[in-house]
Amino acid sequence: MTDLLIIGAGPAGLSAAIGAAGQGVMVTVIDEFPKAGGRLLGQLYQEPDGNWWNGMDLGAKLQKQAEELEVDIRCGVSVFDLTEAGDGWIVYSSKGVFRAKKLLLATGATETPLPIPGWTKPGVISVGAAQVMTNVHRVKPGNSCVIVGANVLSMAIAQELIQCGITIKGMYLPLKSPVTGHEGEPVRAFESLMSLSHLAPSYLLRKAGAFGKKINPGLSIRFFPAGGMKVGGIPIHLKTAAAEIVETGNALTVKTLKLTADGDAVKGSEGSVEADFVCISGGLAPMSELASVAGCKFKYIPQLGGHVPVHNERMQTNVPGLYVAGNITGVESAKVALKQGTVAGISAAAELIGTADELEGMIRQAIDDVVRTRAEALIQFKPGIDDARTELYREQRETEAVFS
Ligand SMILES: Cc1cc2nc3c(=O)[nH]c(=O)nc-3n(C[C@H](O)[C@H](O)[C@H](O)COP(=O)(O)OP(=O)(O)OC[C@H]3O[C@@H](n4cnc5c(N)ncnc54)[C@H](O)[C@@H]3O)c2cc1C
Repeated sequence: MTDLLIIGAGPAGLSAAIGAAGQGVMVTVIDEFPKAGGRLLGQLYQEPDGNWWNGMDLGAKLQKQAEELEVDIRCGVSVFDLTEAGDGWIVYSSKGVFRAKKLLLATGATETPLPIPGWTKPGVISVGAAQVMTNVHRVKPGNSCVIVGANVLSMAIAQELIQCGITIKGMYLPLKSPVTGHEGEPVRAFESLMSLSHLAPSYLLRKAGAFGKKINPGLSIRFFPAGGMKVGGIPIHLKTAAAEIVETGNALTVKTLKLTADGDAVKGSEGSVEADFVCISGGLAPMSELASVAGCKFKYIPQLGGHVPVHNERMQTNVPGLYVAGNITGVESAKVALKQGTVAGISAAAELIGTADELEGMIRQAIDDVVRTRAEALIQFKPGIDDARTELYREQRETEAVFS
């Protein structure tokens, strides 16, 4: 039996492993992907200060650091079930059963599907898949691309596709419908893109964001050009929707419709745009199924991307011996996930070796690091993350005070 089993070898899982193993705890990390690093593996972009964020290098460094602390990292192992067993946890995986005294879930986030007519055709992929093809496997899905969905994720990945020499023919909204939800609303898309102003890898995007911040989004969208606006090489169309994707020879044609500022289709405004492939982007949601199987209490927090397992600042859930870290707790940038992992790893170690008092200062400092990193984060997937977390942790403190 290992002391601490961590599911997920992304930035949160690996930094948790380093945090716990650094305190002398025996740690095993398992991940279903053949390589450790999680979503870091696909991240390669230039930051506003000119430095490159090379996720693959960072993943390799974290793996080395963990292995030097004798963390046992096993890739290609997929967890499908788990159960609490009195003295710890039993975890069922594609490579057999694991037993652990404590369990930490760091399973990350998943892309939200955005079904539009034609989205199952060959050549239509998610933006995350395009990121993995270009940045992880170094394969260009095609020379030109249309992106459906205008949000923080699609903008970040569009910039990466341009770096790979891919022409972005246009970024469009999906048509407003019950399944496309807020993604089909021009005002929401505008708000989402405005939050990119301070992270913008391009000077132009920073300027556009700064301009947008000065005025009300509802008003701004009325003045947004019907023909779109090119920002950092990306033609952004917030008043045109992708209505359908059809195959035309070796390419794909996206049939478009003009939109009013409220997102309603304008009759007789049909158009089309052709590309080698189409990327769909509906945003991200925490991948929290295993927390649900474990019996965690959940709360719906839109700012964090959806339903999240309720947890406190130390990353403890309401289920004894079960910790969470990274995007499973709410969709944020890799830098925040790294810091959350450290908190969870040290918290779990303190509980395992009974040194909570000795490690209190370290845990407090790690929590402060999360807060500072969040405040400085260039990528904010949703507005209001900080307030939503403050409220969640305040509620948790009150609940814990009642039951202690
Ligand atoms: C498509 C996509 C693109 C993103 N792009 C960016 C970006 O450009 N910049 C940025 O800052 N953030 C980006 N993010 C957010 C990203 O999730 C965080 O940056 C960061 O990687 C989160 O770290 P994590 O450790 O919580 O999860 P992840 O890095 O996602 O790692 C989770 C790991 O858990 C493993 N796992 C999940 N379920 C199981 C299971 N049942 N059994 C075994 N293993 C399992 C996965 O294989 C994965 O390796 C992106 C997210 C996605 C989904």
